[in-house]
Amino acid sequence: MRELVVGVDLGGTKILAGIADTNGNILEKKRVFTPVGADPDQVLDVIINCSTELLRVCRVREQEIKGIAVATPGPLSFPEGVVRNSPNLNWERVNFKEELIRRMGQSVIVEKDTNMAVLGEYYFGRQSECGDLLYITVSTGVGGGVICAGKLYRGHGGGAGEVGHMVVEAGGVVCNCGRRGCLEALASGSAIARRLDEMVKQGQGQCILACTAAGEQPGPRELGMAARQGDKEAILLLSQVAEYLGIGIANLVNIFNPRAVILGGGMMLGLRDLLLEPVQTYVNKNVFSLNRQDLLVECTSLGDDIVLYGCVAAILMRGNENE
Ligand SMILES: [Zn+2]
Repeated sequence: MRELVVGVDLGGTKILAGIADTNGNILEKKRVFTPVGADPDQVLDVIINCSTELLRVCRVREQEIKGIAVATPGPLSFPEGVVRNSPNLNWERVNFKEELIRRMGQSVIVEKDTNMAVLGEYYFGRQSECGDLLYITVSTGVGGGVICAGKLYRGHGGGAGEVGHMVVEAGGVVCNCGRRGCLEALASGSAIARRLDEMVKQGQGQCILACTAAGEQPGPRELGMAARQGDKEAILLLSQVAEYLGIGIANLVNIFNPRAVILGGGMMLGLRDLLLEPVQTYVNKNVFSLNRQDLLVECTSLGDDIVLYGCVAAILMRGNENE
C-alpha cells in the first residue's frame, strides 16, 4: 500500500499544495492564488478544496494518507498553532490549527513555513541528517529555521528563527516590523525593489531600467540581469546586499556554530551566481575559526518545493518530539 502525505505551503500570495510519497517523490502539485484579502475562512476553504482535488486526481484511498501537514507564514504560536499579527496574511489572531483540524476531521501538523523548510532540508537536502543546520530564505522577505542537535528549535512560544529581523545596520532603513536596519529591510526582494525605485526617481539605474519590461517595476531579477551585463550600479548594489547577508549569516554562525547554512528563496536562487560567493567569502572572513571549521554555506537543492518536502519530513518525524 502507498503511504502518502498531503502538504500545503500557504503563502501571502500563493498556495502550493502537493501529494508526495514518504520517499519525498512529489506525485502531484497544485498552485493557486491566496484569496484576496486572505480572509481566513476563504483560505481554509481553498486549502481543503486543493487537497481534495489532489486526492481525487491521484486516486488516493483514505487508508493511504499517512498525514497532512500545512505550513503558514509566521508568527505562529507553538503548540497551539495560532497565527498572530502576520504581516504576510494580515491576520491579527487566527486559531488556524484548531480550525484546520475541525474542518479536516483529522490531525494536521501545522508549522511556520521556514520551520517546515528547514525540516525539508534536514530530511531530504544534500546535508540531510546534519544535526546543526540553519536554513535562510531570501525572497520577498527574509526568514529562517533552526535545527539544533537534530531537533527543530522553536523557542519558548514558537517565535524562534526570525533571522530577517536581526539588525545589521543600526539606524538603517525602517523595516515592516517597525525597527530600523533589519536584514529584511536591507537585503530582501522588497528591499531591493524599494532601493531601485529610489534610484530611478533620482535618474540613476538606467541599465537596470533597460532590463525591465514595459509597465513593470524593477526588482531582484532585473538587478541581476544588469549586473550580468557588467552594469556598475547593479554590481555595487548587489555587493551591498551580499555584505548585509554576510553580516547576518556570520552573526548566526557565531551564535549557533552550525555545520551548514542552507540558503533558499526565490531571490537567493535566482541570484545565486551573483550572491553566493561573496556571501561565502564574507562569512569565512568574519567568523571565529572554530565556527568556520567544516562550515558549509550553500544553496538548497530542493528549490521552490522545499516547504512541501518539509511537510513530508514533518509527518515522518512525527512522534520524535511532542507535537
Ligand atoms: Zn524587521
